[in-house]
Amino acid sequence: MSVSDCVFCKIASGQIPARLVFEDEEFVAFHDLKPQAPVHVLLIPKAHFSTLLEVQDAGLLGRALLAVSETARRLNVAEEGFRTVINCGDNGGQTVYHLHFHILGGRFLQWPPG
Ligand code: AMP
Ligand code: ZN
Repeated sequence: MSVSDCVFCKIASGQIPARLVFEDEEFVAFHDLKPQAPVHVLLIPKAHFSTLLEVQDAGLLGRALLAVSETARRLNVAEEGFRTVINCGDNGGQTVYHLHFHILGGRFLQWPPG
């Protein structure tokens, strides 16, 4: 699949709509279409990386985690706790091949995942 067909690139560029909760020059966060918890938001870099394995830039990854923290605060789940997840590849359960951080909260989350 080419970058021009990537659904998250289209959200990042505003070509398809999403319910945004955070945006800066480098990242955008929006509500998941099929939420798995009362709060389920995805944070993505605007630049296209298919999976975590493609990213070589430690600074970008660090800033992404800071943006996750900021988004969790804005969503009011920072204090009670939340989970951030990166599914990587087929066995990791990745279905959209544009790097994204899930932010899940608003209920107690079981561990380990299935
Ligand atoms: P993953 O399985 O980790 O690749 O997660 C992909 C996530 O993207 C799933 O939770 C989907 O519900 C979500 N998703 C797919 N398309 C959209 C979309 N257009 N807007 C918001 N979330 C989406
Ligand atoms: Zn993309």
